Amino acid sequence: MKLAVACGLVLSSLLAVSSTAEQFDFFYFVQQWPGSFCDTWRGCCFPDTGKPAADFGIHGLWPNYAQCHGGDDDASFFSIVGRRGKCWPEYCEREDGNALSPWEIRDLVASLGRSWPTLSCRSGDSFEFWSYEWKKHGTCSNLRPHDYFARALALKAAHNLTAILAAAGIVPSDTETYSLSSVSDAIAAATGATANLQCNRDKDGQTQLYQVFQCVDREAKKLIDCPLHMRSRCSGDRVKLPLF
Ligand code: 5GP
Repeated sequence: MKLAVACGLVLSSLLAVSSTAEQFDFFYFVQQWPGSFCDTWRGCCFPDTGKPAADFGIHGLWPNYAQCHGGDDDASFFSIVGRRGKCWPEYCEREDGNALSPWEIRDLVASLGRSWPTLSCRSGDSFEFWSYEWKKHGTCSNLRPHDYFARALALKAAHNLTAILAAAGIVPSDTETYSLSSVSDAIAAATGATANLQCNRDKDGQTQLYQVFQCVDREAKKLIDCPLHMRSRCSGDRVKLPLF
């Protein structure tokens, strides 16, 4: 009888997360440099909580396939379907509902506000950003909302990209440029894992470091070497890291 009750409890808690576990291969943990998000023709807005620190901010934690499904080409970051097939799961259905409840992450809100602020001008409410990321990516993570956000925060804290780059002499500047290899070498040396870099362009068309994609195991706990190379939009060898 006790065994039956215990089995029932285990089963129902498994069902509460998801009816079927999502089969993805790794996570992309994506952080954005706020100076580069803001310094484009589109610009940015500060969240209701005020100007964020001059620090990499979390964009998302995204389950990803090592190989696109159902396509006829290698996996690439920039297409979910089409010639390359489906490269990551998104908007998964969960037994416990897909909406993020503020109550579930109430003890993380202060930390999320500092580490995962929105810079979009659509809304100054960072919760809307977290909610969007949860629905699109988090629902496919096989994690409960609290673990999903807590693990993202722990990853950021364990590998402080701003400090790692500063220790290698790569500091925000509106005049200096840095070689892409110096950025990736600094991250690989300090974290023990290769990452992918993504660039964008400032208003004058100059290439700047926009996002760092670190790769993480399926538990969202440990960095791994990135199994895929992305199209990085980093033309030329040098990038800016603009002031914020
Ligand atoms: P994703 O790249 O995760 O598919 O979409 C990001 C969405 O979040 C976009 O709709 C974007 O407008 C919104 N968003 C809100 N705040 C931010 C921000 O600070 N950075 C980025 N990259 N997107 C944001």
